Order: sequence, then structure tokens, then C-alpha cells
Amino acid sequence: MSDLPSALVATVRDALAVLLPVDCGGCGQPGLALCPRCRASMTPQPAAVDGLPAEAPGVTAALRYEGAVAAALRRYKDAGRVDLARALAPALRASIVELWPAVAAGGEPPGLLVVPASRPALRRRGYAPVARLLQSAGLRATSSTRLELTRRVGDQADLGREERRANVSGAMRAVGARGGRFVLVDDVVTTGATLTEAARAVVAAGGQVVAAACLAHAERRLQTTSETPGHHSADDQ
Ligand SMILES: [Zn+2]
Repeated sequence: MSDLPSALVATVRDALAVLLPVDCGGCGQPGLALCPRCRASMTPQPAAVDGLPAEAPGVTAALRYEGAVAAALRRYKDAGRVDLARALAPALRASIVELWPAVAAGGEPPGLLVVPASRPALRRRGYAPVARLLQSAGLRATSSTRLELTRRVGDQADLGREERRANVSGAMRAVGARGGRFVLVDDVVTTGATLTEAARAVVAAGGQVVAAACLAHAERRLQTTSETPGHHSADDQ
């Protein structure tokens, strides 16, 4: 299906998910696309994320990246389970709703700017996961501005905080950002390195990042980088 427009591929996958037997996107139990217990674990609880570097934008996230949430996001992004967008999108929406009053007060509301996936990831999936989540949340990314990766970056999975920063540093470019105010949108925040780079790119292009909204926050265990999520990186979103 690689020659089909990505939106069509995603639509076909959605349709197949209805027709074929499914397992729970959170725990793998056969039967429902999402069992009640896993669905309950995806109830949004938006809160500011603590412990990120000072240069990172202020981040709000609505779920902990663990258990059923992590499994569902992984299946949504890399196992063709685009139907899970409907279950995951409310958390992304809740993060944006939570931070919105502070950033939209007194002036032009900011645009929603999606952190980009690499071209190989986009080709492999046939759709952009975060943009699709935003769409499922009933929200629209800004159309006049976009972030691009300007070089290939490695997988963030096995990298520590400093290595992650170096890996994505200078890797993005913002097109059409001049004079604009933006809320960055991504699926998972871990060390904040990707969001920091995105914000740097926006500022370098003459724009401003007022906040960032993520679906989930992955808390890193100190000294155990191998336990950090294996599939969230600027190269593999
Ligand atoms: Zn389940």
C-alpha cells in the first residue's frame, strides 16, 4: 500500500480493524479493541511535568507512560492499530485544554505545532501518529507553520539525557514560524530534549513557543537508561 496516499492507508487500516478479530491495545487480551480496565487507565489527568531542563518549554502531560498506555501507544504507532487513536486522543486533548487558558489569555491564540517524525518513519507507517491523534482529538495543527528534521537522528531509546540532547541538537528547522506563537504537540515527553530542540528551531525562525502538550510523560529511572521507552525518539515518532 506504499503508493497510496497516507490518509487512505490509515482509513483502510481503520476499516480492517473493525472487521478483523482484535486484541486489547493495552494488555493484549483477545476480544475488545480496548478492555474496560485498560480504558480506565487512559483517563486523562493533565498536569505540569516536573524535572525537565530549564531550557525546555513548560510541558503538560495527561498520562504516565507505562503499562497499558505505553503498550497502546506502541501498537498505535508501530503495529498498525490506528483504531487506538480514539482511545488515546482524549489525553492529548486534555493536556492542551489544561494549558490553554494560560497561553491564550490576552491576544492571538497560539497555533498547535506538531513535533515531526522522520521521513523513514512516516513512510513505514503511512501516517503521522501525532498529527492523527490531534485530528482524533478534534483539534487542528497550524497550517502555516511546520517543523522539519534537517538531518537524520539516531534512536533516542538507549541514550542518556545528555546523549539525547546531543542527538537531536540542531536537527530541526521551523518553516513559516516568524512572528507566530506556538504550543508544541508531541506524544511522549521523556527528558525534554526533543521539545527543547523544537523550541530552539521555532525561536531561530523568529517565532515563540509558549508551552508544550504531550499525551504522556515517561519518567526516567536514574542510571537505567536501558529501561527508558524504546520507541519514542525524534527518529521514530
Ligand atoms: Zn486490556
